[in-house]
Amino acid sequence: MAKFIFVTGGVVSGIGKGISAASIGRLLKDRNLKIFMQKFDPYLNIDPGTMSPFQHGEVFVTYDGAETDLDLGHYERFTDEELTKRASITTGKIYSRVIAKERRGDYNGATVQVIPHITDEIKNSVYKAAEESGADVVITEIGGTVGDIESLPFLEAIRQIHSENKPGDVLFVHTVLVPNIPGTSELKTKPTQHSYKELMSNGIKADVIIIRSNGEVSQAVKEKISLFCDVPMEAIVQSSNVDLIYEVPLVFHKQGLDEFILKYLGLEDQEKSDGHWSKMVERFKKAKEEINIALVGKYTELHDAYLSVTQALLDAGYENGADVKIKWIDSECVENNPKIFKGIDGIIVPGGFGQRGTEGMIKTSKYARENNIPYFGICYGMQIALIDIARNKLGLKGASSTEINPDTPYPIIDLLENQRTVKNLGGTLRLGNYPCSLEENTLVRKLYGQEKAYERHRHRYEFNNDFRGAIRKAGIIFSGINEDLDLVEIIEIKDHPFFVACQFHPEFKSRPTKVHPLFDGFIKATKNSKNK
Ligand code: GLN
Repeated sequence: MAKFIFVTGGVVSGIGKGISAASIGRLLKDRNLKIFMQKFDPYLNIDPGTMSPFQHGEVFVTYDGAETDLDLGHYERFTDEELTKRASITTGKIYSRVIAKERRGDYNGATVQVIPHITDEIKNSVYKAAEESGADVVITEIGGTVGDIESLPFLEAIRQIHSENKPGDVLFVHTVLVPNIPGTSELKTKPTQHSYKELMSNGIKADVIIIRSNGEVSQAVKEKISLFCDVPMEAIVQSSNVDLIYEVPLVFHKQGLDEFILKYLGLEDQEKSDGHWSKMVERFKKAKEEINIALVGKYTELHDAYLSVTQALLDAGYENGADVKIKWIDSECVENNPKIFKGIDGIIVPGGFGQRGTEGMIKTSKYARENNIPYFGICYGMQIALIDIARNKLGLKGASSTEINPDTPYPIIDLLENQRTVKNLGGTLRLGNYPCSLEENTLVRKLYGQEKAYERHRHRYEFNNDFRGAIRKAGIIFSGINEDLDLVEIIEIKDHPFFVACQFHPEFKSRPTKVHPLFDGFIKATKNSKNK
């Protein structure tokens, strides 16, 4: 039987609850436990797939094709576990399941209510995740902050899980902000006391409190929280500000959090780790050589919109002794400013949707191609590169994607037949894992060191095979192909320091412990060409 850890947030949002949950996952994994992590999001959308990146940040995609909250990216990177659809639950999903059951008549004439029907469905999604994953410990993060109307059914459901399991099988972690009065270093515990009370009014008693604050939390402050919130001193830990997010598990470990949790859950006999995570952190911290990478996109004011791309770049940098500095470039600014790439060692054009900013991206690809600057295109970044090549190398004036210009004379990027009839926007992109065969004698084959890869997708449009011959004549190599669907997955240019673009999202599979080969290759090439 699995044990359960629930992570709630108090006081304010945005204090790193997801990283705290992921760090607990890492610590337990380091004790040889099988972990499954999941996130509950209290909004009514079925998934974040239809939300603007400005609202939500990145949409993370699991291998089985779920569009999810970006915290799942932290979970996968910290625990190196591949998560599934079961890992991302929203109010919208829960309600739609309950309403579908009601329409089928599954409730046998009952009045369908929040308690027990919605709460049962929520509990079910925790128990099913435990069962399917076979995890020793399921860690569930509840999005939002206690006190929000939307999160009440989730809190009620986890209260019930606590009461229907054996004492010691369910642990509640509450993350809080302990603020200081502006202009002083005096830390205030009152918001924590209130948030603790709010949680108690839902029948949940925090077993562990994780504190975020500006500056060191003194013993006296911890004692106060311990007294008011009735949590033992060893279960109050500070999540200090760190240079590298991967240090957080180590910060928790130093304060004995893993020992406390294991003892609480009756798992204290678990073997200790080989310390590879802390060795990795030490190695990463030594990376010094600065390299400047331009990230060109249309959501650059919100860095969270590119979270996994950024993290994969940083991790690949650290692994190669480089401290990657990201220069955020709004693609609309590229259009009339050729000097924008001064001092840039490599360029990445990540995923995106819609027409705005695409002319600047096409200019970016041309610039990188003609000036031998390493270029890495991801999803839209590959489509954009192909449009650049069609227009500027083949002279196909007005070449475009039908997403950008439905009337283009040269639809280099277009919808496949099965996408033309799609009516609903939600959940209908090409999503999740697809195979990609890596052609012999290509750069990517060398980078991967294998014949076949499985990579995660999230897009609607594809390279139009009618143009394969022409694009090939322009010197482009189709180095990755989905043979089942006959689709181009990766392109590269031979006589260029690094010009590689892929239709999938390699960032979702990159791990600090296992950097993705394409990110690794891109960073190596960038370092090389910088030093030339
Ligand atoms: N907008 C493009 C498509 O739908 C690319 C999507 C992406 O970059 N994720 O095909």
